[in-house]
Amino acid sequence: MPQSSVRIADLTWYDFAARVKDDPIVFLPTGSVEQHGPHLPLFTDVILPVAVAEAVAAKLGGLVAPPVTYGYKSQPKSGGGNHFPGTLSLDASVFISLVRNIINELARHGVRKVVLFDGHMENQWFLVEAADLALRDQRAEGVHDLKIVKLGYWEFITKATEAALFPEGMPSWELEHAAVMETSVMLHLRPDLVRVDKIPDHPAASFPPYDVYPFDTTPIPPDGVLSSAKPASAEKGAIVIEQVVPDIAASLAKVFGKPTEA
Ligand code: ZN
Ligand code: MN
Repeated sequence: MPQSSVRIADLTWYDFAARVKDDPIVFLPTGSVEQHGPHLPLFTDVILPVAVAEAVAAKLGGLVAPPVTYGYKSQPKSGGGNHFPGTLSLDASVFISLVRNIINELARHGVRKVVLFDGHMENQWFLVEAADLALRDQRAEGVHDLKIVKLGYWEFITKATEAALFPEGMPSWELEHAAVMETSVMLHLRPDLVRVDKIPDHPAASFPPYDVYPFDTTPIPPDGVLSSAKPASAEKGAIVIEQVVPDIAASLAKVFGKPTEA
């Protein structure tokens, strides 16, 4: 049974070797250990990309590597900031090295199709750097057919899904931290981890168009949630998942020239 699992962690080395022979797409979810308000767990940015990556991988005959569970430092305007208790972040150089090393390890074992599947906005440029350096490493090794895709699953949300999530109009994706989208998808996938009685409802944070360091924490809502999560629902979460999973699978099938299986 495990030999057909999408999770690399569930496979034996024999299963892994056999699966890699078929040139699968290998997904590396990346997240963070980061405060997500009084109602969502610190692992939200790991739980969501892992779940979406597994669903997409199942459609493409792909494999999901164990995730990179720590991410780059939480920024006030997109994650509430790095000062909240329980937000455990990496320096950029450590994060880049870690992801670069994992890509090189996958490539060493014959993987040629990698998807950096992000769940934490602050990781994005460091994922680009890790991909660039790993490609350089592989060219030096004589490997010229490694292809890497970097994506954030929320970037696939269509205008129609956006309208279902925010009938009144949305503030901005940055201010969505621990708000309607993440709360809805968690209510759909892991209701056991959502403190429904603690879902916050307050106006969206308002930041100046510049950054001062050390950061002025005054505009950051004290609960770490950047806009109201009140309109969240499990139904909205299901709408997001049912739309993004097939859309991401279709895009990757195109990029990598793979048929979708389901
Ligand atoms: Zn998040
Ligand atoms: Mn985050």
